[in-house]
Amino acid sequence: MKFKPANNIQDLQYFGEFGGVNPSISDSSTYTFLSAKTMFDTFEGNADGCYLYSRHSSPSNLYLGEALAAMEDTKTATVTASGMGAITTVLLQLCLTEDHIVSSRTIYGGTYAFLKNFAPRLGIDTSFVDITKLDRVEAAITPKTKVLFCESISNPLLEVADIKSLAQLAKKHNLKLVVDNTFSPLSISPAKLGADIVIHSLTKFINGSSDTVGGVVCGEQDFIDQLRNVNYGAAMLLGPTMDSLRAASILKNLRTLHVRMQQHSHNALYLAKKFEGDGLKTVYPGLKSHPSHELFISMMNDKYGFGGMLTIDVGSLEKANELMELMQKRNLGYLAVSLGFYKTLFSAPGSSTSSEIPEDEQKEMGLSDGLIRFSIGLDADIERTYNMMKACMVELGVLEA
Ligand SMILES: *Cc1c(COP(=O)(O)O)cnc(C)c1O
Repeated sequence: MKFKPANNIQDLQYFGEFGGVNPSISDSSTYTFLSAKTMFDTFEGNADGCYLYSRHSSPSNLYLGEALAAMEDTKTATVTASGMGAITTVLLQLCLTEDHIVSSRTIYGGTYAFLKNFAPRLGIDTSFVDITKLDRVEAAITPKTKVLFCESISNPLLEVADIKSLAQLAKKHNLKLVVDNTFSPLSISPAKLGADIVIHSLTKFINGSSDTVGGVVCGEQDFIDQLRNVNYGAAMLLGPTMDSLRAASILKNLRTLHVRMQQHSHNALYLAKKFEGDGLKTVYPGLKSHPSHELFISMMNDKYGFGGMLTIDVGSLEKANELMELMQKRNLGYLAVSLGFYKTLFSAPGSSTSSEIPEDEQKEMGLSDGLIRFSIGLDADIERTYNMMKACMVELGVLEA
């Protein structure tokens, strides 16, 4: 039976303080207690339902967290001020000095920079592997390995992780499988496939309006409690706290995510097929030519499609830049990093979001200069968009007329 996570969000029922259809927004950093004893118990983590201080938790943040936990089908979740705030707190909670991480080599540039440049300062080392080759993943595991890290659909190369097999591997070696699911909300549910911890940058599809950064960690109650522990919790002590007002606004945007994902996926599949038909080197998990097309199908939930991200290769960075500038001029989208906006966004990852990755390593992983990453928007008439994009490509000699 295929699982439909959007329904789980729909089934949540929270009223505001005065019967409002939206939960009231909590506007306090600190909370009073009727008795000193309850305050003590709350510090010790033994007073369920009591709030202490908003860096620890707040009603608005808990509402958003619970909605996201329902979406990912995990026991619970905690929201953070950014996606990086979620990733770094999880990894720092799981790893101590001398511990080791095995990570996919095609990951978000910020995560790569953290693992490559920052975590070693704390004595945490990472081996980067081709996540699609399970034997290489297993070969990289050492007795010191604590975490297996990947993105369900990788940034920017759109490689697909075999989450079920990775989860088996993690179990066998007693590791935590941490999956960043930012590129495929609703389409893929990593926890259903065996991931221990699921992370999102809420900044992208989930919020969908490019007006804030935000993050979430979805997982077991024990782990989320650890993150928030007043004595040793990374989320509590490093302080990447989301503001309540923002949590309330993201929750409202989350409710239309299923409709938006359907449209992003519909538009992206349409363009990917057209671009490929025109002879452009196109990568999209919904194309039969994608090496992990079948794997994606075996993991995906019904209805939400293959997501809104696709890449094309136009041969050189110069051509890529010319094309992006022209498309922006014709109002086909914005030359901007990030994803999940109502308008199409495009960027050349090699010189932007993945520029943290050294050039020789970019080459080795197949990140070429002429690569353009598209986050396809919600355009109502995608055929018209395609025709206008094609006109730009013909004008610049990327395609024949
Ligand atoms: C953007 C992004 C992040 C980082 O999220 P922020 O909200 O910008 O901190 C992490 N992983 C992926 C896959 C992303 O696209």
